[in-house]
Amino acid sequence: MNIPHAVPHEIYGIDKWGKDLIVVMENGEIGLKNPLNPDAPAISLPEILRDLEDRGVHVPMILRVSSYLEHEIRHINECFAEAIERVAYKGDYRGVFPIKVNQQAQVVDRIVEFGKPYNYGLEAGSKPELVIALAHRLAKEALIVCNGIKDEEFISLATLSRKIGFNTVIVLESPKEVDTVIEVVQKLGVEPILGVRVKLTNQITGKWEESSGDRSTFGMNTDQLVSTVDKLRDAGLLHCLKLQHSHLGSQVPDVNDVRRAVSEACRYYTELCAEGVPLTHLDLGGGLGVDYTGEKSATESSINYTIREYCTNVVETVQYAMDAAEVDHPTLVTESGRAVVATSSMLIFNVLEATLYDAPTAPAAQEGDHHLISDLWAITGYISAERLQECWNDANFYRNELRALFHRGYIDLRQMARAERIYLHLMARIKHHTAFDAISVTEDQMSRLADIYHCNFSLFQSLPDVWAIDQLHPMVPLQMLNQTPDRRAVLSDITCDSDGKVDRFILNDGISRSLPVHSLPDDQPYYMGVFYVGAYQETLGDLHNLFGDTNVVTIDLRADGGFDLLHEQEGDTISEVLSYVEFDPQDCVAAFRKMVDEAISTGALKSKDRKLLMGAYRDSINGYTYYE
Ligand SMILES: *Cc1c(COP(=O)(O)O)cnc(C)c1O
Repeated sequence: MNIPHAVPHEIYGIDKWGKDLIVVMENGEIGLKNPLNPDAPAISLPEILRDLEDRGVHVPMILRVSSYLEHEIRHINECFAEAIERVAYKGDYRGVFPIKVNQQAQVVDRIVEFGKPYNYGLEAGSKPELVIALAHRLAKEALIVCNGIKDEEFISLATLSRKIGFNTVIVLESPKEVDTVIEVVQKLGVEPILGVRVKLTNQITGKWEESSGDRSTFGMNTDQLVSTVDKLRDAGLLHCLKLQHSHLGSQVPDVNDVRRAVSEACRYYTELCAEGVPLTHLDLGGGLGVDYTGEKSATESSINYTIREYCTNVVETVQYAMDAAEVDHPTLVTESGRAVVATSSMLIFNVLEATLYDAPTAPAAQEGDHHLISDLWAITGYISAERLQECWNDANFYRNELRALFHRGYIDLRQMARAERIYLHLMARIKHHTAFDAISVTEDQMSRLADIYHCNFSLFQSLPDVWAIDQLHPMVPLQMLNQTPDRRAVLSDITCDSDGKVDRFILNDGISRSLPVHSLPDDQPYYMGVFYVGAYQETLGDLHNLFGDTNVVTIDLRADGGFDLLHEQEGDTISEVLSYVEFDPQDCVAAFRKMVDEAISTGALKSKDRKLLMGAYRDSINGYTYYE
């Protein structure tokens, strides 16, 4: 599996997962293609980074490509429009973007702007998200869909926003909420637009299995639905119930799960219509997945369908069900988040140093060395392709014995150091054979031989789903892809947490426990990119070890192959992260200064060193939390 490929970059499977957005250029650098201008040449990503570096913007950073966001919004809206036209569906599509998937102002503002021609709206799952939604001028026909558990304040704001022209839909999530909503809107005397969330019984597969089916935490069952209809009718509000909502969970891997769920949703819809509910909108929630691995299969980080197929399936299924029940075709609403924003952001960081798990040469055992060191050294004499497993076993046995001797004081530090060097040299020889003699080694063995590349980022801050739910994202070196990678590594982050490492990678041949990389060059940075991180990663992240937000840069790809810097947001300073955990940076400076002054009083420190110490403390507190 480690056999050098004729074209080195093919190892990474970029053609599979790159979606014609991420490509390899002739000079071996990763290039960004502009999907809005498919004929324009790719722009070198390392070149963009060098340019940003000159402008004083450093890695680690999140790079947002505005053109990708615009492309995805166009794409989903056009795919629905095409499907609607193709089958002569008699309803519209009105998508909404769920703010929770990426709440950053730079993202939401652009989504609203790019979505205007399509009457694209927003979905709010909480009060703060509704506050964000209501700060945007949406197209006249666009919706704001309010999901989640709502208190009086939330319901009042949503209802009142109708008065200034917003099409704000309050989705009833539970029987209790129905009571609160009736009370609030009667008090306000404003007609709301209501929705109701139904709980589908179909179970989907994939990571979000739990959020579908009987035991999902949201939505109403048939019994609750019936009593909701009765209550609204009694309160004279049934005519306000316009939308039916359901949500399957995220990243649905199998398009047939989508079909089944849509079909079930239609059953509720047509039954509610038969009950006399004047529904006009069918909201099918999120779940449209992203093919992170490029496998095109119904596996956890992949999907077995395209957006176009998804749209066609939804439109056809709804049309069929409505026609069968002789119900007017509803306006279709989806709340796709992941599929709209994932591709538009990438995380970029540099490799700081490498812990190599091998040594080019080994010192021979010396006179007086323990005989086990000679035994270990002797392996160098019989290592060969045929005896690889035996050599591996022997080397590990002797090394472990020698460690035990060292712990008990039978050999000294220098002998132990010689033993470790010989061991690492043996590992180098084993790796050489596995690379060139087509020996099959297990993934597990391979990962135990891998180097550790120490990288300038925090897994907990920037890739929380990789840490928490084993989400896979494509990760590749951004340069030297015309040279065969000569090493294999796992990536370790800058936190002091042993959990802060990445050891599952998407390669052309499948998922691997180590990543092919190059020996670190002396004369230039070695950048790594993690792709499709625009969904969920930016705000789920935490402040482990107090590594804060990274720098964020938004760019647009120009038609001529250049780029425009649209926006730069500096990452957190140390002073900022201190305040998040309730330390007052000023107090910290004062406390440190007091200790410096006391040291001067006692004569432990010279007065002239005060400036030096205070300067060092202040520089740190005002600086970036990452390695600079
Ligand atoms: C999270 C969420 C979404 C977004 O789901 P994606 O899979 O990212 O498209 C949509 N609707 C609701 C109600 C959600 O909770």
